[in-house]
Amino acid sequence: MEVIVARSAGFCMGVQRAVEKARRLASGQEGPVYTDGALIHNQQMMAQLDSENIRPCPDLAALRDDTLLIRAHGIPPARRKRLQALPCRLRDATCPDVARIQGLIRKHARQGYQVVILGDSGHAEVVGLLGFAEGRGHVIAGPEDVARLPEMEKVCLVSQSTQFPSRFEATAHTMRARYPALIAIDTICDATRHRQGDIVEMADQVDAFVVVGGSHSANTLRLVELARGLKPTVHIQTAGDLQPGEFEDVRIVGLTAGASTPSFIIAEVRAQLEAF
Ligand code: SF4
Repeated sequence: MEVIVARSAGFCMGVQRAVEKARRLASGQEGPVYTDGALIHNQQMMAQLDSENIRPCPDLAALRDDTLLIRAHGIPPARRKRLQALPCRLRDATCPDVARIQGLIRKHARQGYQVVILGDSGHAEVVGLLGFAEGRGHVIAGPEDVARLPEMEKVCLVSQSTQFPSRFEATAHTMRARYPALIAIDTICDATRHRQGDIVEMADQVDAFVVVGGSHSANTLRLVELARGLKPTVHIQTAGDLQPGEFEDVRIVGLTAGASTPSFIIAEVRAQLEAF
């Protein structure tokens, strides 16, 4: 079977940067490095990082003169304050693209806008973004949720970095009908656009897609949704999840992966598919 690998498959800029920062800290004077939650949504990579002295902090209260790293997703200002009060070295690996959205939300909230975030309620990035709205934030999943928003005068719409551009446009369109003075700022990051764009581009060349990524990874699940709308699609976490029977009629397969899938797993999946 021929395998076409998406150009964008593998770590996104923000995850790559966070992993490099953690490794730099762990190999220098500051190790071991504790992360404020799992650094990435990938068990094999987490095991590898653990062997390099990088692991999620099991108990914040037990930190003493340790290093604590904020993940690429970012955190709300209130949590940052809490972490800064701990007796440890706080380091920050918030993705610059997430930090930009945080800044836009704070700026508009302080100018009196209600800020609506198109995103997955409860996702770490969205929880962080909401904190920057200083009590003027609302999270919606799409245009279908606009009706449940309250009456508002000054309204600003932004997006979680990994949403679909088409959903953002549809949400902005529906919101504009209700809030004519809406300010809509498309804050979907370039890494997300490239990853989604590659799937659309590859769809004409392949018979099926394989998407590699964690079952809880929001950006992976969105890639799966997009790919399934175009071609038969299999979502796996490792090469061991592949079943030869699922590819009987497939001549060419398109391979892509979520933003926190390490390249060694993509290489293993590719080799397994080529062996079928
Ligand atoms: S998906 Fe985009 S915003 Fe999120 S960490 Fe990666 S590059 Fe940054």
